[in-house]
Amino acid sequence: MGAGMAGLVAAYELERRGCRVEVLEGSHRVGGRVHTHRFGPGPGAPAVELGAMRIPTHHRRTLEYIRLLGLEGELRPFTTLLSEENAYLRTAGGFVRIRDAARPLCEGFRRELEIHRPGLRQAHEVTVVGAWLTAVVDAIAPPDLREALRDDLRRQLLDLVACVDLLPHLRGAAGDRVDLHALFAAHPALRAGCSRRLNSFLDDILTETSPALLRLHGGMDRLPRALAARLAGPVRLGHRVVGLRSRRDEVLVRVRAGGRTTVRRADFAVCALPFPALRRIHLSGLDADKLAVLDAVHYCPATKVAFHCREPFWRAYGIEGGASYTGGSIRQTYYPAVDGTPGRGAALLASYTIGEEAARLGRLSPRRRHRLVLEELGAVHPELLRPGMVLGAVSTAWGDGSRWSVGCATRWGKSPEECEAERARAARPVNRLFFAGEHCSTAPAWIEGAVESALEAVERLVAHGAVHRAPAAHGHHDPAGAL
Ligand SMILES: Cc1cc2nc3c(=O)[nH]c(=O)nc-3n(C[C@H](O)[C@H](O)[C@H](O)COP(=O)(O)OP(=O)(O)OC[C@H]3O[C@@H](n4cnc5c(N)ncnc54)[C@H](O)[C@@H]3O)c2cc1C
Repeated sequence: MGAGMAGLVAAYELERRGCRVEVLEGSHRVGGRVHTHRFGPGPGAPAVELGAMRIPTHHRRTLEYIRLLGLEGELRPFTTLLSEENAYLRTAGGFVRIRDAARPLCEGFRRELEIHRPGLRQAHEVTVVGAWLTAVVDAIAPPDLREALRDDLRRQLLDLVACVDLLPHLRGAAGDRVDLHALFAAHPALRAGCSRRLNSFLDDILTETSPALLRLHGGMDRLPRALAARLAGPVRLGHRVVGLRSRRDEVLVRVRAGGRTTVRRADFAVCALPFPALRRIHLSGLDADKLAVLDAVHYCPATKVAFHCREPFWRAYGIEGGASYTGGSIRQTYYPAVDGTPGRGAALLASYTIGEEAARLGRLSPRRRHRLVLEELGAVHPELLRPGMVLGAVSTAWGDGSRWSVGCATRWGKSPEECEAERARAARPVNRLFFAGEHCSTAPAWIEGAVESALEAVERLVAHGAVHRAPAAHGHHDPAGAL
């Protein structure tokens, strides 16, 4: 159930082990939260990612499938937030280019310290680290966490940072930039001394601002589409699961398609639907703990708004990719690689929000949402307001209102033990019903988590005796076997 990455990987691996598999997908496309939008037909159309857009290089399972599917040659570097010097950053004093941001950031951070920790004197390099970390938290954290994280940073992390030799990690002629990745890698004790909520969030912010990120040329949806094309069994689009009964010796799946409801009987089933989607389904045969964890997993909404622009006007400002931290209600603006046919325009990911800001944008009608984003971003990029510049707009609000999916599972603020306990409860099978999806993994909110969960579900089926072990790989890649 579900033709997102988790469902497709599970189906592929089960077929390799000799199972007859049928995939049921409620929407009319495969990929789920891997969702590339193309402004126009054909391969030359400008493309933008409304779901997943980058793959960290340490996500080896995801990369193994990319290799397996012959897409390795399509991998390109992904330029992320804060790494394009000519992009913009919102500071207390207004928008500045990232290359000029150090001074206003440090001044702003010093003023903040005067208010929150009066009398505290910090060395220049400690201020630099605090200022850039605050900028990263502001740009990435959802609003409900932002102030608390800033507070943790000022009160705890700063004192730990002050005890470390920071000079090897400073960058730039004036030593007013810092390589945060190198700093945390060299001093693991910094992480260990952080508050739980700051520590659990640092993984995500360090990954999102890492230089080691990749994308798929031509669109991330090439991955789920290639995987679906490899399946021998049918992937049935427009087949919505509306009921699920787990029995000791079978699973009954009630499906709505083409105005008719039918019941399918399966020896085994893998449910790779996000839990909020599952909560809307009539369930029976699930024990109390499973029902409780269905409600307990927290999903963070996300909204993306993209414009089809007549031309990539940002290039005139030296912006070749990466992102601006635009703040306000639009938060982040990404400049996707312009690799469509020249003359067909360019895609701009005008706004990427998470948390309450995403929910707020998601509640607006698409028309009002697009207008609001245009007005706010017009303050940074007035070119957008020129007649004929914006040729079209599209957005996805991955939130409560969305039919198939609702943001991403998050475990921010939980201890490693609490995270593992929730993960284990989410992934635990009930009779012959197995569970997969990013929420069942150790890497929620990443494709890698979806893949990991699917491989684990298949392993559980093997352990159950339902499925044979993977056949030996004959000269081809074997992600499940290799991992
Ligand atoms: C805005 C955004 C940005 C992201 N950025 C990144 C990124 O840069 N890098 C990264 O690695 N990850 C990113 N992620 C996370 C990544 O996209 C997900 O972790 C992953 O795609 C989840 O896969 P899945 O198979 O678990 O779930 P999904 O992809 O959600 O698959 C579930 C499938 O079930 C279907 N479904 C739901 N209800 C029913 C029903 N009743 N009957 C039948 N089918 C149903 C859905 O239509 C969907 O196809 C991002 C996610 C979002 C939302």
